[in-house]
Formats: sequence, structure tokens, C-alpha cells
Amino acid sequence: MTTAMRDVPRSGNRDERQGAAIVVGASLAGLMTALALSHAGVDVTMLERSGAAPRARKGAALGGVSEGLLSRITGSRHAQGDSAPLSSVAPGVQSWMAVHARLRAAVDADPYIELRPHTLVRSVDQDADSAWVIASDQQTFRGDVVIGADGHGSVVRVGVAPDKPDATFAGYLIWLGLTNESSLASSRRLPRDVDILSGGGDYLLGYPLPGPDGSVALGSRQVGWAWYDASHNDLLCETGSVVGNVVRRSLTSGDIPEATLRELADKAEDLWPSPWREAILDCIERRAVIGTPIAEYVPDKLVNGRLALVGDAAHVPTPMTGSGFSASLHDAEAVAEAIAAGVRGSTVAQALGEYERKRLGNVRGMVQSGQQFSRSFTGRAA
Ligand SMILES: Cc1cc2nc3c(=O)[nH]c(=O)nc-3n(C[C@H](O)[C@H](O)[C@H](O)COP(=O)(O)OP(=O)(O)OC[C@H]3O[C@@H](n4cnc5c(N)ncnc54)[C@H](O)[C@@H]3O)c2cc1C
Repeated sequence: MTTAMRDVPRSGNRDERQGAAIVVGASLAGLMTALALSHAGVDVTMLERSGAAPRARKGAALGGVSEGLLSRITGSRHAQGDSAPLSSVAPGVQSWMAVHARLRAAVDADPYIELRPHTLVRSVDQDADSAWVIASDQQTFRGDVVIGADGHGSVVRVGVAPDKPDATFAGYLIWLGLTNESSLASSRRLPRDVDILSGGGDYLLGYPLPGPDGSVALGSRQVGWAWYDASHNDLLCETGSVVGNVVRRSLTSGDIPEATLRELADKAEDLWPSPWREAILDCIERRAVIGTPIAEYVPDKLVNGRLALVGDAAHVPTPMTGSGFSASLHDAEAVAEAIAAGVRGSTVAQALGEYERKRLGNVRGMVQSGQQFSRSFTGRAA
């Protein structure tokens, strides 16, 4: 991703602030968008269906997350109450939880962002003067713009791209797990970086991560793994995890039959070397495995009038691209820049059109490059 980096000055005086945005979804893309908007002088209300604690992506790691990028988006040179810098085991690789915590701390410290948990958005609409969402309790939230940061199953996408509202199942899942280094006999042999292995038609990514307290000391780290598997699509359909061609939810430990766990354990013994084999067996033993069906979405639009999409709501690449986080960050900065220009000068809708022109080609290319991997992995024809 080559979008130019830019420091957006923070407008801290209430009188200087203009415009109000509703952001649906308070995960990584939503948090980054809210921060970028606030720094650009726009007040933000965030609506998140989950409770105060995020839905954890246990075991998930994010590549390409540098301290510089996070400081830029959190405005940590200015914000009070910002948390300590992230520590990194492998270059640029962070646990999803650590990145989320860092962004969330910056949002909580920002007086111009209000985050409303337990708020499930059901629908979105707009007229010439404003855009709004209606939540499941019938409350209406109105702003100059509504930004959908509500992930691969986005509700806001229905308002932006009614002809193409759904991300589609890519034909495989990723088994994810996370274990403590201290529970592995072979912990001293953890590599410095991400290991990418293939075997029996499957792929495995193994990676060291900082410990839950951020420690990178030997013995206190965590070990994450992600196993790409195209042979359990029947289970995804039987459990309602995939319905038709649409991904509904991940498999949690209670959804995974004993026989499937035993089969995975046997396969891990055959396919994967230490320390990944032991990490997988430890997670299976503790029933701490999640199965995430992979969705993909190539956007034709990012914007409709006063509605715009960012992050996985806008574009869903396979995690194999390792690009979802950085694309979300560039979306956040570009959409905030456009909205700030829109509420001050040209119309908001025109300004959002500029956001789409800036980002659409890049993000389409990102998803399409991942589709080449997906097609060859699942053996599908292009
Ligand atoms: C297994 C896995 C591994 C990955 N690995 C990498 C990687 O290595 N590198 C990388 O760059 N990217 C990776 N990604 C992608 C990356 O995590 C995402 O692109 C990035 O986190 C942006 O996600 P998001 O915030 O847009 O969406 P999500 O994380 O899906 O968040 C959407 C939020 O919206 C909320 N929400 C949804 N619907 C509603 C509603 N109707 N009302 C209110 N709230 C709602 C949800 O509760 C959630 O909090 C990976 C993804 C997966 C699944």
C-alpha cells in the first residue's frame, strides 16, 4: 500500500470543530476511523453491537503494524492517557488484541469520540441533509455522514452497494490457536519471524507474539498459529457457520465435534514440525481452537451519497494477503481527510466521492491478488 503518510493536526477547540459522523463498528477499522475523524475536527459517535470488551480474535496476528503507524493514527504525541508502545517479537507482527487495546485506549481518552457498546445497527438511510442509522432498540443516530466499519457482514454495505451487499465464502477456513510459550517443551526453538509451511495441501502460519502483558522475554511469549484448510466445508454448512455462499460466524470450540479435533490432532502430528505441532496439540487438548471461514469481497463502490465504507466492510481480502490492517488504516485517513474537506467546503457527498477515487483501485487490486491464492488453494477455476 503506497498511500502518502500525513500528520493530521488535532483540532482541540470545540468552536473549531465542524461536522458529526456516525461510525458503525468499533473494531480496528472503526477505532482508526474515529481517531482520524476526531483529529480532523469531526465529532464521532461509534456504535458497537458487542459489550465493553471486544470480541477477541484469539490467536490472530497482524503483520505490518509498526509503532510509527500506530502513533500516527492514535496521535500519541498529543493525546493524554495513551498506553505504552507495543513491543514486537517478530518484526512488525502484533497480536490483534494488543493492537485493539492500544487503539481503544486512544479512543477512550478522546473527548470528541463517544463509544456506545451494546448497540446493534439494523438499517441505514440518508436524505439531502443528513444520514442516519436505526438500532435494534429503535433509537436513531444521525450525522453528516455514516461510516460503515462493521466488518465482512456489513449492514451499512446494504446502503452503499444494494446490488452487491454480501461478501462470499472463499471455500476454506482457518483454524486459529494461541498458547503460552511456557507450556511448550521446545519453546527455545521459536523462530524470530513468521513461519509459512505447506503440507498435505494445507498451509500453516506459525508466529511468536508478545505475552499477554506485552513481554517479549524468552519463556513469557505466546505462540500463535493459523492453519488453512479446505477440507471441512461440510462442517461449516452443517453448523450454520456458512449459509449458502455467505459467511455467518466462526466455529467456536463447542461447534467442533470431538472426531474433528482428533482428526486435526492426527494430521498435525503428520504434517507440522516443532514447535508448531506442540502448539496445535496444546490448543486442541484445551479445546481452545477457533475455525474462521474466510470471506472475500471485491468492491465496486465505497460510497453512496453520505454513506461510506472502510475496512472489511469495504473490502474483504483473504488474510493470506496480510493487508487488511494497513488497508483499513489508509481508508481511515483518506475518509477523514475527505469528510473534513466536505463539511468545510464542497458538499459531503462530493468529498466522499474523492475518498472513493483515491482508494477503490487499490483495494480492489488487494482483494483480487488474494483471490488468486484462494483459487489455487481450493483448486477452483478462475
Ligand atoms: C483470521 C484472520 C487473520 C487476519 N490476519 C491479518 C494479518 O495478518 N494482517 C492484516 O493486515 N490483516 C489480517 N486480517 C484482517 C484484519 O484483521 C482486518 O482487515 C482488520 O482488523 C479490519 O477489520 P474491521 O475492523 O474492518 O472488521 P471487524 O474486525 O470484523 O470489526 C467489525 C466490528 O463491527 C461490529 N459490528 C458488526 N456489525 C454491526 C452492527 N450491525 N452494529 C454494530 N456493530 C457491528 C463488530 O462487532 C465488530 O466489532 C485477518 C483477519 C482474519 C479473520
